[in-house]
Amino acid sequence: MSSPVFLIGARGCGKTTVGAALALALNYEFCDTDHHLQQVTGKTVADIVAAEGWEGFRQRETESLMAVSAPQTVIATGGGMVLAEINRRFMREQGQVIWLQANAAVLAARLSAYPQSAQRPTLTGRPITEEMSEVLKQREVLYRDAAHHVIDAMQAPERVAAQILAALARSDR
Ligand code: ADP
Ligand code: MG
Repeated sequence: MSSPVFLIGARGCGKTTVGAALALALNYEFCDTDHHLQQVTGKTVADIVAAEGWEGFRQRETESLMAVSAPQTVIATGGGMVLAEINRRFMREQGQVIWLQANAAVLAARLSAYPQSAQRPTLTGRPITEEMSEVLKQREVLYRDAAHHVIDAMQAPERVAAQILAALARSDR
């Protein structure tokens, strides 16, 4: 198995944290679509959204996804990557898609412990737990639709990574 591994899920579910560990374990490259976008444009996600709106950002996000997709690469995607059908189809066809599933309370607790507010504007301007619930309600069906494997991301990062490795090994058979 050498096709790319795409990690999907809401902000705070651990795509960056777990993805880096997973890449080490697999001896794969690690890429983050948000970081790629920042490198290419020289702007933060917040800057891009301010200048081009969410629609402009989503367009660039699709370009980033396609640019970083490569064999032997673990790809952490932006939380909204699944919104576009073209992204969901691309990921499913090109590689293995892993949904890191966590509930709104856990996500909100992680994000308020480490608020990277400059990284990404909140989507609604409302309290973080409320916003996470709302976002999950809209997106859970899309994460499920896109994913080959659903992993409980509310465990320690090493356990999450181990379960992904096991799921990848099973699907390799
Ligand atoms: P994402 O890339 O999906 O937005 P991150 O990997 O940046 O998420 O994680 C968000 C925050 O949650 C970070 O502070 C990280 O240390 C923490 N975190 C990530 N995964 C876990 C986990 N499995 N258990 C506890 N904390 C975690
Ligand atoms: Mg991340």
